[in-house]
Amino acid sequence: MCARSLFSEDNSDGASTAPDTLELLISPVSRSPSARVSYPESIFSSDDLAGASTSASIFASARSSTSLYTNVTPPPDATPRLIQGLNRHELFEVVRQETLHEWEAALGPKVVIFIANDTVTNRDIHLRVSLIRRALLKIFPDADPIIGSAEPISACINRPVVFPFLIHRISEPYSRRLISQLCWTIDGFTFFAVDFVRPATSFVMTLTGLHLPSSPESNRTVETVVRRWLRDTQSVASFIRQYHDNLPGFTITEDHVEFTLSTVEVTGTRLGFEADSPVAFNVYIIPPTNDAAHHLAWMREVQGITYFADCGTGKAAPLFRCSTCKARDHSSTSCPFPVNQLLDVGTNIDFNYFRMH
Ligand SMILES: [Zn+2]
Repeated sequence: MCARSLFSEDNSDGASTAPDTLELLISPVSRSPSARVSYPESIFSSDDLAGASTSASIFASARSSTSLYTNVTPPPDATPRLIQGLNRHELFEVVRQETLHEWEAALGPKVVIFIANDTVTNRDIHLRVSLIRRALLKIFPDADPIIGSAEPISACINRPVVFPFLIHRISEPYSRRLISQLCWTIDGFTFFAVDFVRPATSFVMTLTGLHLPSSPESNRTVETVVRRWLRDTQSVASFIRQYHDNLPGFTITEDHVEFTLSTVEVTGTRLGFEADSPVAFNVYIIPPTNDAAHHLAWMREVQGITYFADCGTGKAAPLFRCSTCKARDHSSTSCPFPVNQLLDVGTNIDFNYFRMH
């Protein structure tokens, strides 16, 4: 499978988005479990976790030099926050290969920024660049970043896909600071900053069809079901034996398989307000590979399994797409990021607001 096909407008994994009405059915009590999913830090190396792990040291250094922090840029939370399901494939889904090649060739620290609640457009791109520049200069007054925009593959995508901007010609500390905070709100303008070299996240799928109540016990039950079917699916073990660059360096190949299965974590989300509303189960597994193409194959491998159980038949469904942060494990109404209410009104940003400031 060539990289080009992976980053073309191949929407086979997410074209069948949930109907808009589903958003109304999602219980507001559902929350991204990202903060509760634990990872062995040693096997992750990039933005979300490394950023989080470095944030403490950045914070510590900031005490001696507060230049990176102002009233508008408080230190990042100590708790790591993730945008689950936003992998390299999803981040650059609408970016043309030619643009991606140019971005890859750019030297120095690189950060990708996307605006909360923004969508793909061919209008007002320059205004978006100006807003990002204004916000960055408010954070780092002495910076002079290059802000690159993409020529979208399609300007008429009615799904909350990412419309990314490349930020480079910035220093390493500034780059780390942007990424470690992840979600920024400057003068009512909210954006997300992630590493250009984005690692694979652990979210693999949302299972529907398992008729269990929303409870920790149900989560454990689904974990057992998922582990059993992964173990019984020969191609899963074969895949892990072949691709395990993201796992600890076990000497026995089979340990890679066992380790991966041991990291299965499940969190249920009730799809409605009634006590007996159906429950969907988000499944998280530490990805065996960090290679973008192989990770996509891994996701499709796991999503392609039918999880037969005594409580129903679990099937992967592309249920969630957060329009705010573009995560795939929660709905927009359950987004954990503190987005300014002014912008949290839909997918259309009121750019006139910014013109007034
Ligand atoms: Zn979100």
